[in-house]
Amino acid sequence: MARPDYYAILGVPRDADAAEIKRAYRRVALESHPDRFPDDDDAHERFRLASEAYEVLSDPAKRSRYDSSRIIPDAIDLTRPPSVATARDLFGNLFGDVFGSRRAKRRKGRDIRYTLSVTLADVVLGSTHTISFEGRGACERCEGSGREPGGREPIECPNCGGSGEVKTGGLLSRRSRCGRCDGMGMIQQDPCTACRGRGVRKRQRSFDVRLPPGTEAGSEKILRGEGEPGRFGGEAGNLRVTINVRPHRWLRREGMNLVARIPVPISRAALGGKIPVPTIDGWVDMDLPAGVASGAKLRLRGKGVPDSRGGRGDQLVEIHVETPKLPEGSRSRELLLELDRAMAREGVLPEHAELVAALEAHEAQREGN
Ligand SMILES: [Zn+2]
Ligand SMILES: [Zn+2]
Repeated sequence: MARPDYYAILGVPRDADAAEIKRAYRRVALESHPDRFPDDDDAHERFRLASEAYEVLSDPAKRSRYDSSRIIPDAIDLTRPPSVATARDLFGNLFGDVFGSRRAKRRKGRDIRYTLSVTLADVVLGSTHTISFEGRGACERCEGSGREPGGREPIECPNCGGSGEVKTGGLLSRRSRCGRCDGMGMIQQDPCTACRGRGVRKRQRSFDVRLPPGTEAGSEKILRGEGEPGRFGGEAGNLRVTINVRPHRWLRREGMNLVARIPVPISRAALGGKIPVPTIDGWVDMDLPAGVASGAKLRLRGKGVPDSRGGRGDQLVEIHVETPKLPEGSRSRELLLELDRAMAREGVLPEHAELVAALEAHEAQREGN
């Protein structure tokens, strides 16, 4: 594995002397010390890398070993020509960097993502939610600019000449992100003391998210400019809120309609009458026609999802005849046995009667042969 470019990390040229390396390390360490920025993971990583870089570059023996290993990395076996894959590993995105454009000085702020969990009623009928989280927003002291109030204008980074990249010499010349300006090409002469020039700070943030009636599950609400602030005049990122809908016990959405699967006792399915049905607006008593079949779909008009033109879908009620499991010796079982015999006698199950008649005809024919 290629070792990190310690010169780029400290933002010093390859021929920097010991004093220069020490100064550079002090600067990066001050800007990223974990004691000063306990919640900033980027700072921790920068501090760790800078310390590693300093440990190697400040020791002449380690530095010379590091320098030679960068020219002829351990990974290449020079007795064989490197394969294409090896070359790609070694050169990384070299080609992209060489032919790519210069880095933009203005950097757009990062987007922030948030998942908002709501009920089905919240999205179908519309609702407003206050979300609150700890996230990175514009620093209050410098208003996201990174410049100490009253401080001087930022300048082009002297280490990389504004490109944000430094060329690291040797046989395998490649470009790395400039450690002095962190790839920005610009540096603050007077960095804000609260955010050390980054323009962002972690703080408690809170927003109102309005879901219009009919909002789709999984959809995304974008609050423009509420992400992390940009740097050096770059645009702020967005806050992207993904809408997660918790499942409803009885209702599910199908386009503009809502569908409820409603259990009905076999007796009620035969007799008809009122059944309780949950809707997104509350419970209703629904009229069940006598003799309804399991799987039948009934319709409650205008109880579905509202559309933007003032209309509204329907609620479909799927009848699910719940077959009882009857314990031996129970009164229900006794009555059902009696019912079974009575239904056969009275011929109230015409389809079933037809099946029985077909079977009898079949058996009669077999005996006749
Ligand atoms: Zn600030
Ligand atoms: Zn630079």
